[in-house]
Amino acid sequence: MHALIYRDGRMRVGEIDDPRPAAGQALVKTLACGICGSDLHFVHHAHHVVETSSRIGGGFPIDLGRDIVLGHEFCGEIVERGRGPNALAAGTRVCSIPFTHADGSGQSLGFSADRPGGYGQYMVLNERNLVPVPNGLSAEHAALTEPMAVGLHAVNRARLLPEDVALVIGCGPIGLAIIAALKIQGISDIVAADFSASRRRVAEAMGATLVVDPATVSPYASWAAVAYPQGYQPGSLDAFLKVGPQPRPSVIFECVGVPGMLQKVFEGALAGTRIVVVGVCMEPDRFEPLFPLNKENDVIFCFYYSGEEYARSLHNIAEGLIDVAPMTSRTVGLNEATDAFAALESGAEDIKIIVDPWK
Ligand SMILES: [Zn+2]
Repeated sequence: MHALIYRDGRMRVGEIDDPRPAAGQALVKTLACGICGSDLHFVHHAHHVVETSSRIGGGFPIDLGRDIVLGHEFCGEIVERGRGPNALAAGTRVCSIPFTHADGSGQSLGFSADRPGGYGQYMVLNERNLVPVPNGLSAEHAALTEPMAVGLHAVNRARLLPEDVALVIGCGPIGLAIIAALKIQGISDIVAADFSASRRRVAEAMGATLVVDPATVSPYASWAAVAYPQGYQPGSLDAFLKVGPQPRPSVIFECVGVPGMLQKVFEGALAGTRIVVVGVCMEPDRFEPLFPLNKENDVIFCFYYSGEEYARSLHNIAEGLIDVAPMTSRTVGLNEATDAFAALESGAEDIKIIVDPWK
């Protein structure tokens, strides 16, 4: 099959063997696969990713001496009906969490030398993980299930209160997914900050109620103004003694993931703000613990999602609770994928580019 093959920091389009399903697995033709920031990071820092995840003790080992087909945000179509009792018919469109298990070993699809991910024409998926795509949803939009599940999980981790004022820092795909999930949960005030005007427009389309350009206005001041009741004086004796009307409960989602961000969030947070860290910072970082200590901030870290959150996200898209159309700019073939990676890295207008390995 044709695939976008990663090896030694480079990508090329080439031929690899079709993957073969084991018992309990289905052969799936890849219809669409979204390019993720993790893919961009892996291409340049694969050794660091592998070394860090082995020190953490989680994840799956990746053999960087072999060809790797990336891609973990996918939608496909079943080629051959499996043999299991609940096997889906050939031609059924499906999504799946990007993990497979066979013969006692697990693989993280899209980060494995043993199992090709969504930048190949075929994948092998575990039948028990398959979620049929409902309502005739397009493969391009169904492929957004994975990042939407990351957002839903972050919002579920946030222990939301109905009166929460939310601040989303960074409106890339994950920040946007969080905005969509907050809207579904009925959060009435969602402040979103990003330097890019196009991302701010999309944030508004996805449900942000106030968008801020951090180059001109402080996102934290804008958000605090929403949280403070009328006449509230932060720093006053009444505020300190918690006498009179108090600020609404508040939550910040950090979706940037670069060194120094956490310190900025701690500086901008209010007393009692829950801080949900979703941005993936791959480097050591520094912050002054006195800030969150003083404000008694709860800091919550997030990783992936549950199977239930994944399936829920597909239904949220298919039932129209989330419109992912504003996020997806274009679909490219394998030969244009490397340029698409470069376009996303340059941080221009694209938010999510879809790869169709048959285009
Ligand atoms: Zn991803």
